[in-house]
Parts: sequence; structure tokens; C-alpha cells
Amino acid sequence: MNRADVTIIGAGVIGLAIAAQIAGKGWEAYVLEEKATFGQETSSRHSGVIHAGIYYPQNSLKARLCVAGNRALYKLCQKYGIGYRKLGKLIVATTDKETGELETLLDKGQRNGVEGLRMLSRREMKELEPNVEGVAALFSPSTGIIDSHALMQYFVARAVEGGVQIAYKTKAVAIEKLGAEYRVSARDEQEEFPFMTRVVVNCAGLYSDRVAELAGIDIVKAGYKLHYVKGEYFSVASGKNKLVKRLIYPVPLPKVTSVGIHVTFDLEGRMRLGPGAEYVDSINYAVNSQHKQLFYDSARKFLPFLEYDDLEPEMAGIRSKLQGPNEDTRDFVIRDEADKGLPGLINLVGIDSPGLTAAPAIADYVLKLIQAHLTE
Ligand SMILES: Cc1cc2nc3c(=O)[nH]c(=O)nc-3n(C[C@H](O)[C@H](O)[C@H](O)COP(=O)(O)OP(=O)(O)OC[C@H]3O[C@@H](n4cnc5c(N)ncnc54)[C@H](O)[C@@H]3O)c2cc1C
Repeated sequence: MNRADVTIIGAGVIGLAIAAQIAGKGWEAYVLEEKATFGQETSSRHSGVIHAGIYYPQNSLKARLCVAGNRALYKLCQKYGIGYRKLGKLIVATTDKETGELETLLDKGQRNGVEGLRMLSRREMKELEPNVEGVAALFSPSTGIIDSHALMQYFVARAVEGGVQIAYKTKAVAIEKLGAEYRVSARDEQEEFPFMTRVVVNCAGLYSDRVAELAGIDIVKAGYKLHYVKGEYFSVASGKNKLVKRLIYPVPLPKVTSVGIHVTFDLEGRMRLGPGAEYVDSINYAVNSQHKQLFYDSARKFLPFLEYDDLEPEMAGIRSKLQGPNEDTRDFVIRDEADKGLPGLINLVGIDSPGLTAAPAIADYVLKLIQAHLTE
């Protein structure tokens, strides 16, 4: 590894989607991944939902890339046999005040270009989901679930076939701008080795602020300092999964750090509740069983059939959030840092939800940034 055109740091779903997108373009390209294989962090610790794009401010990257990613993912799934189910989703209001908030969400979603959104009366909701309790619901038919591991496997195959090399157990430890290029130092199990690259794409997920800092960016000044928001999941006893057919969500709270504890399924039909949202200082994926009551109380408002003993701690993921506690929501940061004196350094910071859904659209967006830099 002496010289590269493009070096991607991180083999989560975002780095891999970009690797697949730039494959076969004639560039010498590498992905550096610290772990022994791909997708070992956030990209395997999530709800696995293909979001529709309802919640995000109009024209934000989150809104645009989620709506585009949703369509692109279904096409990829159909074309390449990646597991998915377009289950549809209900956002359920349990009070009249929440019904008003559903109207706001409907309006937001429609402005974002989400297709098929529809308000349901209590009776219409009960026709679709007789076991769900509420006063009204917003129905989103384009929400679904995906086998994210199979999606990443597909991206890896496409990247490798197109000549991109993926180096596992290889951590980027230094990035220095030298002339018009970057000198990246990487450390594998044997040694630390430097190489030159024309473009660096930072897709380091929970560590993307630190990688930006390695390249010399003042992350506090730039607004890139990440907060960690842990999301725990509890599995629901088998048998109860037959009582609901769609993904069921509550109405999100203002200044949402998450879309709320919801019901989701995996492709085998196992039901789970989650994720919670708790700011934490460090990365620890243990589930606190004492949080069971909180999950039970949140979900029972719209799932009256749930019993306390149905819930078991399952797993947790950690969101990389730009938004601190009680701060306003923040958009994805996806940019070439030319205005910071670092052209060709493309940072992706704060890629929290809907990052999985948006992955193919993010890859498209980043490809354009890479092309703009390499053809300058
Ligand atoms: C609880 C939870 C629920 C979610 N639910 C959904 C959902 O339902 N739908 C949806 O669309 N999105 C969802 N998301 C968001 C989605 O999971 C993320 O946006 C996405 O997985 C982020 O992928 P990534 O590639 O940026 O990060 P990661 O998957 O974390 O990948 C980053 C990679 O970079 C590597 N790395 C870090 N530093 C270095 C370094 N210095 N050198 C080399 N490698 C390095 C890491 O080892 C890691 O493999 C959820 C997230 C969470 C936490």
C-alpha cells in the first residue's frame, strides 16, 4: 500500500456503501477497518428499519438522503436478493394532543416526499392492527425492515469485485496534509506504515470526531464533538409477535434524540422493543435489566397485551449524535473540508439514524464530492 487515490476509514454500512459506489471507477482505493471484519459496531446494533423519511426537517440531508435511500434500498434488495420486508409502520397517538402532532408529522413527511402517508382514525387503525391501542395513527406504507448484514455483504462483494481493497485489523492512527495529498499512518497487527492518498473519507462512526481531529480539525469549534446516546432493546416473548403485523411507533417527543421506544421485528419475525435513549460517556453495550419497567410502561400504552414478564434484555447500540442533551436536532455532516484548508478530506460525522436507510444515497453524494475533488 504505497499510494492511493481514495482511502475510506471505517467498514460500517456507510464506508462499505461508499466503497461499493466508487468501485470500478479506475481509482486505487482502500478501506481501513480497525476490527477483524466489517460491521462490528453501530451497523449491527440498530433496529434494522428502512425509514420512510418522515421526521427530518425539510431539505436537510437526513430528509433528502433518507427518502432517496429508502427507494434505493428496496431496489437493491429486490435485484440482489437481500432480505427485506416492507411491513409498513403506524405512529400511534394515545392522546388527542398527540393526534395534533401526527398532523404535523404528516405534513413534514409529505413535504419531504414520503409517499403514501395517511392519517387513520381509531377505527381504521383497529382494522389494520386490532391489538394496538390508540386514538389515531399515521400510516407509513414505505417503512420496512432489512437484513443489514446481507446488505453489507453485498457492498463488500461489489467493492472487492471493483478492485477496492479492504484491510481489516488496520487502524488509521495519523493523518497529515502534505502538499495536495494526505499522509495516512495505519497500524495493523505487525507494524505502523504510512502511505499517501489524494482523498480521505472519514466514516469512522462513533470515532469520526476523533478521526477528524487526527487530520487537524478543531472539533469543538467545528461543532463535530460527538455525544453517545445508548439505545437498549428488550426482546418480547414469542407468541406475542403474532398479535402485531406492522412496526408500531409512539409519537416522538420534541427535540427527539430518538424516534421513541417502538416495536420492531427481525426477518424471522422475532419482536423486540427499543431503542431507549440515554446519554452515556463511554461505549458499553451491556443492557441494564433495571430499565425493563421503563420499556414496559412506554410500550404498554399502545400494546395493552404486553405483560411485564414478556420482556427480556437483548442488546444495545450507541448513536453517534452531534446533538447534546436538550439541544436542537442536528443534521448529518457530510462535507469536503476545503474551506478548512483540507480539500479532499471528506468527513462524515454524526451519522446516526437514518444512516442505515440513507447509506446508498450517502454513497452517491460522497461519490460526487470525490469526483469533484479528483477532477479539479
Ligand atoms: C440504537 C440504534 C438504532 C438505529 N436504528 C436505525 C434504523 O432502524 N434505521 C436506520 O436507518 N438507521 C438506524 N440507526 C443508525 C444506523 O445504525 C447508523 O447510522 C449506521 O449504522 C452508521 O454506520 P457507520 O458506518 O457510520 O458506523 P459504524 O457501523 O460504527 O462503522 C464505523 C467503523 O469505523 C471503524 N473505525 C473507527 N475508527 C477507526 C480508525 N481509526 N481506523 C479504522 N477503522 C475505524 C469502526 O471499527 C467501525 O467498524 C440506528 C442506530 C442505533 C445506535
